Amino acid sequence: MTIILNGKKVAQKLKDNLKIEIEDLKSKFNRVPGLAVVQVGNVAASSVYVKAKTKAAKEVGINVFDHHLEETTNQENLINLINELNSDNNVNGILVQLPLPKTINEEIVLNSITPEKDADGFHPLNVGKLSISQQNDENLLIPCTPYGCLLLLRELNVNLTGKNAVVIGRSNIVGKPMTQLLLKESCTVTTVHSKTVNIESICKQADILVAALGRPEFVNKDWVKEGAIVIDVGINRVKLNGEKSILVGDVLFSEVEKMVSAITPVPGGVGPMTIACLLRNTTIAFKNSNNL
Ligand code: NAP
Repeated sequence: MTIILNGKKVAQKLKDNLKIEIEDLKSKFNRVPGLAVVQVGNVAASSVYVKAKTKAAKEVGINVFDHHLEETTNQENLINLINELNSDNNVNGILVQLPLPKTINEEIVLNSITPEKDADGFHPLNVGKLSISQQNDENLLIPCTPYGCLLLLRELNVNLTGKNAVVIGRSNIVGKPMTQLLLKESCTVTTVHSKTVNIESICKQADILVAALGRPEFVNKDWVKEGAIVIDVGINRVKLNGEKSILVGDVLFSEVEKMVSAITPVPGGVGPMTIACLLRNTTIAFKNSNNL
């Protein structure tokens, strides 16, 4: 029987544990973690994500500082705000919601966040730590989506050592850190992308297949080995007929589900884990800054 990995449930468990931990921190130190959420402009999807992240943070007891800037805000003003947040002792994590308006250089902005408050784990220092650190993940700030994927894999209680893992996609926010995380778990990892030759046959050898390519239902049964574990990171909104639209992943779930040992659904798989891991990073940043 195929296991459908319930991201909602696993994310809730992580949030429940964080809530208990934050209550404990509050009772001992009379302080709680603080998360600054910065949004520039009014991209509809960004507003939805910001709302969901803010709500989840408050639910676990994190203080949220909202900063919603005009679409016309220039890079200098945004960086000035980040500098203020960098030196604000009540702020432990800073999240800048992407995408930023085209006039602003995302890389410069993300790099201006002090690495200790990098709630998304995108700063080069944290990316470097993830790739070279021998320590376990306990106090590392790790990109939220791939870390969420790893936590879902751990739910299966499968020994990952020596498994053949293939990651489809090499983005900085998903594919590359996913590759690093699986390598840290002692998997043998291959990262494939849009220029990979014979991609289907490489994917078909995977014991663990992570799809993060951003192509709706692109990965079908011809890409997947019988009994594999499939993690579908994709979130694609597709129009059904006329106005109605639905969310689908990068994997053709209806076809692949039947042949694998475990798979994440879309929605309800990786998505909820991303937010929970953001709260985890903020709590870790708080503890690191207080030497806890
Ligand atoms: P991205 O930056 O667009 O990267 C996509 C990657 O997939 C690139 O490396 C690209 O290769 C590769 N790719 C594209 N088409 C391909 C093809 N036909 N065959 C093989 N590789 C192909 O996307 P992303 O930000 O990593 O996001 C990937 C997906 O995850 C999207 O659907 C996104 O919405 C979703 N996502 C979900 C969450 C969540 O919380 N669940 C969070 C973040 C992203 P090249 O490098 O060669 O161009």
